[in-house]
Amino acid sequence: MIDIHAHLCFPQFEKEIDKVVERAKEEIDGVIVSSASFDEGKKVLELVKKYPGFLFATLGYHPTEGTDYEGVLNLIEQNHDKIVGVGEAGLDYHWEEDLKKRDQQKLIFVKFISAAERYRLPLVIHSWDAEPDCFNMVNSRKISCIFHCYSGSIDLAKSIIERGFYISMSTQICFSKHHRKLIKSIPLENLLLETDSPFLGPERHTNMPWNIKLSADKIATEKGISKESVLTAAKENAIKAFNLKLG
Ligand SMILES: [Zn+2]
Repeated sequence: MIDIHAHLCFPQFEKEIDKVVERAKEEIDGVIVSSASFDEGKKVLELVKKYPGFLFATLGYHPTEGTDYEGVLNLIEQNHDKIVGVGEAGLDYHWEEDLKKRDQQKLIFVKFISAAERYRLPLVIHSWDAEPDCFNMVNSRKISCIFHCYSGSIDLAKSIIERGFYISMSTQICFSKHHRKLIKSIPLENLLLETDSPFLGPERHTNMPWNIKLSADKIATEKGISKESVLTAAKENAIKAFNLKLG
């Protein structure tokens, strides 16, 4: 079991980070620690050093909340052999209505796409109300992509799957009808599990990496298969997608 997207360097975890990681070690096999800004990226690099073979880092830039994307690109350049992916990076139209600023997001996203291509790393995509544009921007590039927290349409999900990319299902499935519908169109071969901790907690409080088990329960019910088959497939996919060396 691998949570492929958790923000363990967010302030919510600061005081008890070692406790959270120790508990996660008892419950699951690994966590990919995501970052979305320069400062978070630096913290994530430090944290994963303490837990080799269990915590893995990705470096990215949130389209509406990040600061200093050039700093993040430099961090990627300096640490590309220490990280398992680029991201999250992408487009967020939910929080940005200004068309010029959306164009600005695209210019920055292209740089992260190119970084993933250059270092042969998978790209973790943040897309909120911007899934079609994100897909169009990566479709012809020579990269592997993960649509993190995918909440787009079923039709686009089909195109993403056909292209051989991954769809990462978050704990949103525990409380969202749309996601329960969506999961029926996502084959196990393309499925990854994530919590986006500390966000999207199934019981509306701080999410934790081991809550991917709750998602697996829901997915199993919706698909009429066993929870184990969901967890096994998602784990194998995570290892393959991020080339993880579990310890
Ligand atoms: Zn995230």
